[in-house]
Amino acid sequence: MAKHRPPKPRKFGKGALRCRICGTHEAIIRKYGLNICRRCFREVAPKIGFKKYM
Ligand SMILES: [Zn+2]
Repeated sequence: MAKHRPPKPRKFGKGALRCRICGTHEAIIRKYGLNICRRCFREVAPKIGFKKYM
C-alpha cells in the first residue's frame, strides 16, 4: 500500500515550477526566465549579472 503518491507532472500551477538546479519547488523565481529557487539564485546571481540582490 502506497503511503505517498508520487508527484504528478503538471503543466501549470505550483507543481510546474521547479528549480532547475536543485529541483525544489519552493520560492521559485520565474522572473527573467530563471526558473530557479531563491537559494540557487543567490549563488548564480553574480554569474548572470545580478550584482546587487536585496
Ligand atoms: Zn534551487
